[in-house]
Amino acid sequence: MSARKIDGAAIAAEIRGELKDRVAALAAAGRAPCLAVVLVGDNPASALYVRSKVRAGAELGIRSIEVIRPVAATTEDVLEIVCGLNADPAVDGILVQLPLPPQVDAQRVLVAVDPGKDVDGFHPINVGNLVAGRPGFLPCTPAGIMAMLQRSGIPVAGQNAVVVGRSDIVGKPMALLLLRHDATVTIAHSRTRDLAAVCRRADLLVAAVGRPGLLGREHIKPGAVVVDVGSNKLTERAEVERFFAADPRRLAEFERRGSTWIGDVDPVAVRELASAFTPVPGGVGPLTIAMLMANTVAAAELRRR
Ligand code: NDP
Repeated sequence: MSARKIDGAAIAAEIRGELKDRVAALAAAGRAPCLAVVLVGDNPASALYVRSKVRAGAELGIRSIEVIRPVAATTEDVLEIVCGLNADPAVDGILVQLPLPPQVDAQRVLVAVDPGKDVDGFHPINVGNLVAGRPGFLPCTPAGIMAMLQRSGIPVAGQNAVVVGRSDIVGKPMALLLLRHDATVTIAHSRTRDLAAVCRRADLLVAAVGRPGLLGREHIKPGAVVVDVGSNKLTERAEVERFFAADPRRLAEFERRGSTWIGDVDPVAVRELASAFTPVPGGVGPLTIAMLMANTVAAAELRRR
């Protein structure tokens, strides 16, 4: 069997195309949407994520405000910024880039964000709305995965779905969204007994763990749809050769850059056993930013009403 590769980049481009028209309509009515991004500290990965979010917004005509504070900022400093952005009528969406430095109380900061501007969907009000099946902002990665499944014609209702990982950002909201769409959902985690047997029950397997190639042949039911959220950088030659021995393009990339990306699922096993799968890179990743843009546009539309 040869698995269908789900092209996340193409689906994200489709979503961005639709958003462009809505942004243009808002701009024509007087004001383009505005996203405020708060970055505390000098974590290079966070700075890169912030840049790519600002750039993705700019391509759609979404304005961005970047608020950058040094790594020594206190919880009070960050709360003051968030309160200022909550009160600013020009700001539609607020995103606090995580992780925050250890001395900053991230929970207090996330709770301080106005739920109507919470485009990451992390505020307890929006989490509660998700649990209760009420409208609200959905966390971007799980929302992107649902959009990807729907746009790829992959059925969810009635399917046995297994989500591996129970983080507040990916695993838990993913499971809740699949439940909302009538899947029969199991959540697995580091304390799950016989993970392979649990995963093999899945018609739809979502891996959100953060362990390179953790799920292999023994975890995948033949014909399953596999969504790989994991985003792991491989820098050890032995690891790269173990997973990509038969992939000259990846080996060449490793020679050139000294690293390559892999998800939580063994890339060879998934191609052999799944009916459809999301590649890493180019699967779930592009959808996450597209959904952040979608939430920002929705926030702007709601605030104009
Ligand atoms: P977390 O570290 O917050 O959560 C990982 C989860 O995996 C935990 O629930 C943990 O269980 C579980 N886990 C860890 N080891 C095992 C194991 N051996 N067997 C079963 N379960 C295990 O990670 P995130 O949810 O934030 O992210 C997961 C992955 O997704 C990462 O690779 C991250 O980079 C990627 N990611 C990708 C995004 C994208 O846009 N493509 C967006 C967000 C994340 P327990 O709770 O018991 O500790």
